[in-house]
Amino acid sequence: MQIVPMLRQLIACNSISSVNAALDQGNRAVIELLANWLDELGFNVELVPLDDPRKANLIATLGSGPGGLVLSGHTDTVPCDEQLWQHNPFSITERQDKLYGLGVCDMKGFFPIAIEAARAFLDKPLRRPLILLATADEETSMAGAIALAKAGKPKARYAVIGEPTGMKPITMHKGILVEKLQIKGSSGHSSNPALGRNAMETMHKAIGVLLDYRYQLQQQYQNPLFDISLPTMNLGCIHGGDNPNRICGDCELGFEIRPLPGMEIKALQQELENKLLPFTDDGVSVSLQHMCGVPPFDAGKESELVNICEALTGHAGQAVNFATEAPYLSQLGMDVVVLGPGNIDQAHQPDEYLDTGAINPMVDVLVQLIGRCCL
Ligand SMILES: [Zn+2]
Repeated sequence: MQIVPMLRQLIACNSISSVNAALDQGNRAVIELLANWLDELGFNVELVPLDDPRKANLIATLGSGPGGLVLSGHTDTVPCDEQLWQHNPFSITERQDKLYGLGVCDMKGFFPIAIEAARAFLDKPLRRPLILLATADEETSMAGAIALAKAGKPKARYAVIGEPTGMKPITMHKGILVEKLQIKGSSGHSSNPALGRNAMETMHKAIGVLLDYRYQLQQQYQNPLFDISLPTMNLGCIHGGDNPNRICGDCELGFEIRPLPGMEIKALQQELENKLLPFTDDGVSVSLQHMCGVPPFDAGKESELVNICEALTGHAGQAVNFATEAPYLSQLGMDVVVLGPGNIDQAHQPDEYLDTGAINPMVDVLVQLIGRCCL
């Protein structure tokens, strides 16, 4: 089958992942399509189910031996505002050298391109394996990649993640840490402060501590390769209290930190606990929930794959502000670069598209990459 008809079938499978359970779908249909195609081509196909029975990862391997190359993509998409689309998000519309559809660019389009590149090697004996990896839930919890890192597979020397990077190798990105701080006091009549414990006043102090910590982190860490060269902290949402004449009984803050490479998620979480949990001294109860912690990614100075990808694309490695599954594949001991067709600017928005002109050059890059890593 050709690239566009394959992509049409992938796009027709709704594989939205969302923290909103009403929108969240499985990715099984996408995984099964890929598994069937790859099985027919002679790949050894392994489905790795996740806890949620609607979801799975796929590891498809051609050839065997040490080393080798993983071509990796996520099979889920973000939700879409269908009423804002001019095209049907669940089918492909081809117009003026663009393919429109939900996930064409981020990143179902990568799979038929990778399969097309793999076809060039079906009759050649690979000395090192070529592995196509398809993951679940990248857009929400990274559950697919986390499960793989835990299971210790797949293993190869190199891994390319085909996220939309405009075919430029991405060698660094920031991490994401999402935290929820809950402060529980007790409410009472506002006329007598002794009748309760004001959670909002403790939250006020806690926010002061957080902003000081942000300043401290920004003094300590900078990386000029990033557009935003400092680690950031955003206080995103706050809810608390109900009426001016009642002591505020509960207050909750959601905030996010985007750490630079070199900053450890676990250490940041520990430091936040050290700074925030002692506020129980105010007579309130304090809890800090770690909602999400994607590590930052740095391919590292010794990465051979960075050199290979820079030579193949003619672009130097770059740092970006979005997070990917790269740190999890790094944890598996692979040399990882993020490099794919399409542009992140077209992702996560109505009328997402992929330029058809991006397809053949990406196939060529992957053919050369497979040749270097697997023959
Ligand atoms: Zn993506």
